[in-house]
Amino acid sequence: MTSHNVLQLSQDLISIASASQISNADVSDYIENFFKQNAFEVERLEYTDDADNRKVSLVARKGEGKGGLGFFSHSDTVPGAEEYWDPYDPVVKDGLLYGRGSCDMKGPLAATMIAAANVDAKQLKHPIYVGVTADEEVGFGGARQVCEESQLLSQYGWPTQVVVAEPTELRPVYSHKGGFHVAVTAHGKAAHSSTEKGISANFLIAPFLAEMAELAKLFKTDESFMNHEFDPPTMGFNMVMTDHNCAGNVTAARTDVRLGLRAMPNGRHEDAVAMIVERAKKYNLEVSSRGVQAFYTSPDAELIQVALAATGIAKAETVPFGTEALLYQNHVDEQVILGPGNIAQAHTVGEYIDLAQLENAVGVYTQMIEELCIRK
Ligand SMILES: [Zn+2]
Repeated sequence: MTSHNVLQLSQDLISIASASQISNADVSDYIENFFKQNAFEVERLEYTDDADNRKVSLVARKGEGKGGLGFFSHSDTVPGAEEYWDPYDPVVKDGLLYGRGSCDMKGPLAATMIAAANVDAKQLKHPIYVGVTADEEVGFGGARQVCEESQLLSQYGWPTQVVVAEPTELRPVYSHKGGFHVAVTAHGKAAHSSTEKGISANFLIAPFLAEMAELAKLFKTDESFMNHEFDPPTMGFNMVMTDHNCAGNVTAARTDVRLGLRAMPNGRHEDAVAMIVERAKKYNLEVSSRGVQAFYTSPDAELIQVALAATGIAKAETVPFGTEALLYQNHVDEQVILGPGNIAQAHTVGEYIDLAQLENAVGVYTQMIEELCIRK
């Protein structure tokens, strides 16, 4: 087996640009090759996005049997912001690796690839999976395709336990908020305001908006809508709206309002959505809602306990940002968010990852594989 260097692999991945606004086919080709050279079975899933870019997600598997442990990451990044730095020329300085995606999340991805590649398939009692998705930064398109279309996962079944390797400074995370959206539309009638023949959608929706302002106060102050496992403990209730730039002397034909809130386990987000919908209906407004539940794995779950032991950390945490764990939780028993790097670095100019932490991650993932796929 070739020996693997997490710094080298991270640099190789960073140097192949794969912002969500372009195709990630090149970096996916590189990753697919790596899997093939290291005795993984690999599935390639593709679609073409709205801008006609080819988007590739990969699911790799090693070992026999059902269940097992999965490591899931994404291969897209936010845009490089080339005018401010050289994002695709990774450099190491003072123990930090700089480059777009170093932290979010090509470095963490490289650590999972190496930990999984270093294991001898013959030793595995349970299989290892590595998933690498497209378009995580712009709506989870790759992860959705993996959930809906992966032949490999429907043939063998999903791993029972999954590590989502987003940067948490190698601190095990058992929960993060989900998200719900309510779309409300008022339909008026456009006419020149001098004629008095129009109906302003803005006036139709105004009383509803006043009630939303009241709800915003309630959601921020009523303890029953909070969960103090999170910081902040509230739902982040927000509202945006448009009358589509209606001219000042014309009545608005249509006003659209979008309300969003972040779901927490044991929170009252479903009550909150119902309250919004009920008020919209009261004023005869068009209304629809959709959302995803919070990600939650019991802090007592085996996977969390194994992650704590591997990292030497006493207690699992929650984080304020969301991940693709939201989608995978319908398919797997337990998940942990656990990766090297600090989320504060994500999406920044001058993004970096601490090299020592990146190298530690390989050891942490290796220990988890030994515990869950070899010893168990
Ligand atoms: Zn990420």
